Amino acid sequence: MAESACEVIVIGGGPAGFTAALYAARAGLDTLVVSPGELTGMMARAPIVENFPGQGESLPGREILAKIREQARQAGARHEQEAASMADFSNPEAFAVAAGRELYTAPAVIIATGAMGQGEKVAGEERFEGRGICRCVACDGPLYKGQDVLVVGEDEQAAEEALALTGIARQVTLAAPARRLDLPGDLQEALAGRPNLRVETGLRLQEIVGEECATGARFLAPGGKERVLEASGIFLYLRGSAPATGFLGEALEMEEGGYLVTDELGQTSVTGVYAAGDVRKKQVRQMVVACAEGCMAALSAERYLRRRPTMRWDRGEAA
Ligand SMILES: Cc1cc2nc3c(=O)[nH]c(=O)nc-3n(C[C@H](O)[C@H](O)[C@H](O)COP(=O)(O)OP(=O)(O)OC[C@H]3O[C@@H](n4cnc5c(N)ncnc54)[C@H](O)[C@@H]3O)c2cc1C
Repeated sequence: MAESACEVIVIGGGPAGFTAALYAARAGLDTLVVSPGELTGMMARAPIVENFPGQGESLPGREILAKIREQARQAGARHEQEAASMADFSNPEAFAVAAGRELYTAPAVIIATGAMGQGEKVAGEERFEGRGICRCVACDGPLYKGQDVLVVGEDEQAAEEALALTGIARQVTLAAPARRLDLPGDLQEALAGRPNLRVETGLRLQEIVGEECATGARFLAPGGKERVLEASGIFLYLRGSAPATGFLGEALEMEEGGYLVTDELGQTSVTGVYAAGDVRKKQVRQMVVACAEGCMAALSAERYLRRRPTMRWDRGEAA
C-alpha cells in the first residue's frame, strides 16, 4: 500500500467536508479530502434547496455543493475520490486513513461522512425520489403549502415533522405502521389538538404510487386489506438515518446509534481528530449547520496544529 502524508485529512465530501477543507486550505494547511465520487452525500441528493443562505434562487443541492467544492479546490485542497475503509488514530504524529490503495497520514483528521439513510427501499421510492418524496419539513415543507401531505413513520421525529406540516399543508395524515403510537404525552396531546392532522395506525407501507410525480402511497392495513392514501407530498421517516462511521471501528467514542460524540467545536474523544456535519451526535441536520461545523472543525484543527512543536510554521517554512 502506497503511503502519502499531508497536514489535514478530511473524510467526506459533503457540505461539512468541503467547508472544512476550504478553511483548512485557506489557513495554509496541506489538506486532502477523501470521499467517493465527485459530488456525493445527502446534499447531492437534495432536488431543490430553498433554505441555503445567499443563493437567491432555488437550486439543486448538487449545484450548491459543486460551488463549495470548487471554492475548496481553488483554496488549494486536493480531492481523492475514494471511500475511507479504515482509520487508525493510535499515533498522534501520523493518524492513518486507508482509502483505495493508499494509506494517507496526517496529524489532524476531520470526519464529515454524514448520515445517509439505511435499509431496504420500498417500491416506487427510488422512482419518485425528489418528485413527491421528501425527508425533511424544514427543507421541503413549504413546497406543499395548502396541499395534502402524508407523513409515514411512527417515532418522535415523524410526529414532530407532522406537527410542523400542520402549519403549512391543508391536510396532514400521519400513517404509522404500529397499531399504537408510543410517544411522550405532550406530543400525543399536540397531535390530537391539530384540526388538520389525522393519525392512521397499523398501516404498513407497500409502495409509493404516481405517474410523473408521487400521488400517494399504498399500504397494507390491519386485516390484510389494502389502502391507498392520496397526497401531493410524502414525507418518509421509516428507516431513520445511519451515520457512516462503520470504517472507524471502535477508534472513537460514539453514541449507541453510531453518531460521533464531540465537544461544541467538533473535538472527538481523540485529540486532533474532529467531526463535523450529520455524522455528529446532535439535533439539527441541515446544510447550513454542516457548513458551520466544517468551519469550526477546521479552525479547531488549525489551532491544535499550530501549537504542536513539529509543524512547518515552527521550522520556519512557509505555511
Ligand atoms: C432528499 C434530501 C433533501 C434535503 N434537503 C435539504 C434542504 O433543502 N436544506 C437543508 O439544509 N438540508 C437538506 N437536507 C439535509 C442535508 O442534505 C444534510 O444535512 C447535509 O448534506 C449534511 O452534510 P454532511 O456534509 O454532514 O453530510 P453529507 O452531505 O451526507 O456528505 C457526506 C459525505 O461523506 C462521504 N462519505 C461517506 N462515507 C465515507 C467514507 N467511508 N469515506 C469517505 N467519504 C465518505 C459521502 O460520500 C459524502 O460525500 C436534505 C437531505 C436529503 C436526503
